[in-house]
Amino acid sequence: MNRSPLPPDGGSPAVNPVAATLDLLGDRLTLALLGHAFVSGTTRFNQWLERTGAPSSVLTDRLNSLVDAGVLQRSPLPTTPERHEYVLTDLGASTWQILVCIWGWQREWTPEGAWQPDLVHAACGHRGPAVVMCDACGRTVTGHDTDIEMDAEAIWTVTSGARRRSTRIRSRDSSRTDMQFNAVMEAIGDRWSGAITGLALAGARRFGEFRSALDISPTTLTDRLTRLSTAQILERPAGSDREYRLTPRGRALFGVFVFLIRWSTQAYPDVRGPLRIRHRSCGAILTPALQCRGCDAPLDRTAARIESAPAQP
Ligand SMILES: [Zn+2]
Ligand SMILES: [Zn+2]
Repeated sequence: MNRSPLPPDGGSPAVNPVAATLDLLGDRLTLALLGHAFVSGTTRFNQWLERTGAPSSVLTDRLNSLVDAGVLQRSPLPTTPERHEYVLTDLGASTWQILVCIWGWQREWTPEGAWQPDLVHAACGHRGPAVVMCDACGRTVTGHDTDIEMDAEAIWTVTSGARRRSTRIRSRDSSRTDMQFNAVMEAIGDRWSGAITGLALAGARRFGEFRSALDISPTTLTDRLTRLSTAQILERPAGSDREYRLTPRGRALFGVFVFLIRWSTQAYPDVRGPLRIRHRSCGAILTPALQCRGCDAPLDRTAARIESAPAQP
């Protein structure tokens, strides 16, 4: 099996919404920028510079990418119209659920969780991570209650093609941003890892299943499976050396993935994505929504507030 990443006419490969979404949002600084926009209403370059500690050239690059992707838009400052600020578009605002799921996962599954922003439902006062519900039937949903339908021809393109982004914050820059999303980056900070974790959430277990779904080299696959195991997202059942399954920590990433996939369909409404998630008990294609654990009410950005964590000692 030797599938070329290019179509027969030699043109550029069609955009894969899931791959493009992982490329754009699977990035520490991008998530930090969105987080500051949601938590403290940050819109200005200097505020972001101060709050993320990112080098200004890297920050400029990332803000430009987010403008190009339609997540932020430049808007003239009322007082000095020759300068501008960056405000969330509707598409940008709909990354809110992804951030909420990432923060919730970090609070529950990582040592630094206590320093992540906290979700508070205004109506009932409940504080803490939300759960995922099916918007069609209103029931709570986890990876166990869903079937993932994949286009065999389309899924592999998740990992083909050149990555758009080339700049990264190096660890020596030691900005706060660098630490903030460390744990989740193991799962979404790389196309391969993102695709493997997604497949595991879809029920893939065996080495060969991952390999045939992704058209990945055995060396790369072994490397990513090892990394995901070290990160305690996957584990090997005792007595099996070619099988991997999600740990509870890995399964808890379900919310992050379903909202990433939903967002990819919003960002690329005219492109059919490579996979659909079906809620087994009601039969609907899953439109995920967040639900308050305290009172079971649906939670959206207008019904909840995000409180920033206390300052780290
Ligand atoms: Zn349902
Ligand atoms: Zn509530």
